[in-house]
Amino acid sequence: MTLSISAAAIPVLIVFALSARWTWWRASKPGLKVLCYHKIGAPPPGSKLKELWVSPEKFRAQVKYLMAKGFSTLLFSDLKKLHASGAPLPEKAVLITFDDGYENNYLHAWPILKELGAKANIFVVFNTKGKVNLWHDPASEPWVNMATLEQLKEMQNSGVMEYGSHTMSHPHLSALPPGDAAWEIAESKRQLEAAFGREMCAFAYPYGDGAYAPAIREKALEAGYTFDFSFRQGKTGWPWNRKGSAIDRLFIRGGDNTWDLALQLSRGASRL
Ligand SMILES: [Zn+2]
Repeated sequence: MTLSISAAAIPVLIVFALSARWTWWRASKPGLKVLCYHKIGAPPPGSKLKELWVSPEKFRAQVKYLMAKGFSTLLFSDLKKLHASGAPLPEKAVLITFDDGYENNYLHAWPILKELGAKANIFVVFNTKGKVNLWHDPASEPWVNMATLEQLKEMQNSGVMEYGSHTMSHPHLSALPPGDAAWEIAESKRQLEAAFGREMCAFAYPYGDGAYAPAIREKALEAGYTFDFSFRQGKTGWPWNRKGSAIDRLFIRGGDNTWDLALQLSRGASRL
């Protein structure tokens, strides 16, 4: 008898053990939801960072999910107004962000956003626009095209996309002499503002490097950015304490499905 009960329980235990890797059993967490994407498309042969590529089909399904659930997708300027107003964070507000500024954002993400009525934001590396991702070793992550200034302007003019800074050249900020790190942070703000004719209120640290180094974070705040974004998984408490710490993000991986997206939005993470 004992044997037969435990035998019957085995499949249940297996299902439970497998599904416990997801965070459905955690309590929902309040806070600012900022999705982080990089590349939309198929990873090129030789890519060692395949999880940073999300297929257009998956991206479409994810944006569709957000719209069907009644989310409003904020631009950086919307977030700035919300922050300045001191108003509470709407439960159904989310920021879609892309790091680096790839041409595939223009080719694959922008048409989907336009079609579904969503908005998004890109952290642009100033010196590589119209070139390739020069900061990667092509032996581990092949070079692909970055969006040109014209493509970025076209997206901005559509009202669907806004920009923030991701430095001049995508360095590890904490590895640079302090003056050079400060220059990467401040000069990219100046150059992007001149190129796009509007304020850049948001900054993201390449590799997240510097987000937790007080001397570097101070440079980002001094440069005049309202918001700085880290590379740490999670949601950030609102009202946001700007002096306290950078804003965390929800990282969408190539293998994620809509269930992962739902868990990230509610729990701040989808898998352990
Ligand atoms: Zn980056």
